[in-house]
Amino acid sequence: MTDLTALSLIAALDGLAKKTFSSEELTNAFLDAIDKANPHLNAYVVVTHDKARAMAKASDARRAKKGAALGALEGAPLGIKDLFCTEGVRTTACSNILGEFTPTYESSVTANLWREGAVMLGKLNMDEFAMGSSNETSRFGPVANPWRRGKDNSNLTPGGSSGGSAAATAANLCLAATATDTGGSIRQPAAFTGTVGIKPTYGRCSRWGIVAFASSLDQAGPIAKTVEDAALMLRSMCGHDPKDSTSLPLAVPDFVKACGRSVKGLTIGVPEEYRVDGMPGEIDALWAQGVAWLQAAGAKIKSISLPHTKYALPCYYIIAPAEASSNLARYDGMRYGARVSGKDLLSSYEATRASGFGAEVQRRVLIGTYVLSAGYYDAYYLRAQKVRTRIAEDFRTAFADVDAILTPATPSAAFAIGERGDDPVQMYLNDIFTVTANLAGLPGISVPAALDSRGLPLGLQVIGRALDEETVFAVAAALEKAAGFNAKPDAWWR
Ligand code: GLN
Repeated sequence: MTDLTALSLIAALDGLAKKTFSSEELTNAFLDAIDKANPHLNAYVVVTHDKARAMAKASDARRAKKGAALGALEGAPLGIKDLFCTEGVRTTACSNILGEFTPTYESSVTANLWREGAVMLGKLNMDEFAMGSSNETSRFGPVANPWRRGKDNSNLTPGGSSGGSAAATAANLCLAATATDTGGSIRQPAAFTGTVGIKPTYGRCSRWGIVAFASSLDQAGPIAKTVEDAALMLRSMCGHDPKDSTSLPLAVPDFVKACGRSVKGLTIGVPEEYRVDGMPGEIDALWAQGVAWLQAAGAKIKSISLPHTKYALPCYYIIAPAEASSNLARYDGMRYGARVSGKDLLSSYEATRASGFGAEVQRRVLIGTYVLSAGYYDAYYLRAQKVRTRIAEDFRTAFADVDAILTPATPSAAFAIGERGDDPVQMYLNDIFTVTANLAGLPGISVPAALDSRGLPLGLQVIGRALDEETVFAVAAALEKAAGFNAKPDAWWR
């Protein structure tokens, strides 16, 4: 029998529709695979065996009933990043400060998936509060990337913060996964694991019930095996939600259909400023290859300038910590999760926060509080907001002439666990190509395009106009087709 876990989401839905297998069989195949792999990969922090089987059975029952309404993801087993609140299932953002917090409500995005008939396999590992690029700041320990460097057996990071989502998708431990992206946390781990990840336009997905990191930048999106799978997932995840005041009251286009659009006649921008010092030649070469692929598919190529790009990373690392310091003020030991009692209220706050937050989260809270404090606000926070406006203007100017922008997704391939440990700035540099789309609120996708000389996946990024995910999907599908990327990691974890 074929390995059901190796199917794409769309192929699995087809098998379910044809009754080649049931959702229960499919779900059990994933649960078995997870139980075998998780001790090695650490991708899941909660596996909801019973819930998954019950949801699968319910889906099979719906399918068996004549005339019952079926969802777009009917019976499809998915993994959920631990940042999404899931009713009755522990949700901690992989932080000690949330203790054993078990929400009494469901995030809007996951509720949308269950409404479409999907099955929950469990909660996926991530960097604490989604702060990181390597999944090394999780309270549950790092995730191992399914990919390794040739014959070298050292474990690599799957990127972050959605490291569990990317690793689980790449290792066939779910059909697809939810993820979130504040500065690159969908696209960078997708690039590091040979998977597809899209961050939609800010406001497409509701943030309600997602643990907040930096609210003006946070967006949910999928990590999936193919561009079409990502399109189908995103379509189900997004939509207007009155519970999030920044959710856009707009109809959701048919993203899957958009994957079939031709790129003939589109103009693709190539920004000069994304050529950074020290970037491996292979990444530069892949970028040139991406340009050639799109040209061959009938697109026109135009060199563009996004002059404020060099300020994007410092700007992000002021705004994101500022918003985080404010959002994380609620974790005081009184209302959620863990508490360390002191002699009075203030010392209880201090003891709880000192023991509950990890080092990277504490660093962000300190930076954020500093840049928002009287006397420094104008010099840092306000100035960063002005730079953010300039970055958005750069894109607006560019999009007057081009339909989409092509860049590398990351400045390197996956690195080893512990390799970038000492210097936070080295870690922050991972986000150099991704933060701009968050600052400007634009959709961005990462598509696997090649393996490097050590056998690790590399991704290309497509950035689109606000609300034009359809063109992003069309270009991504053209790249996917041209690249013909179908490499899989050796399944050493089985
Ligand atoms: N790596 C970036 C950070 O640490 C982005 C994280 C994210 O997108 N959640 O802030």
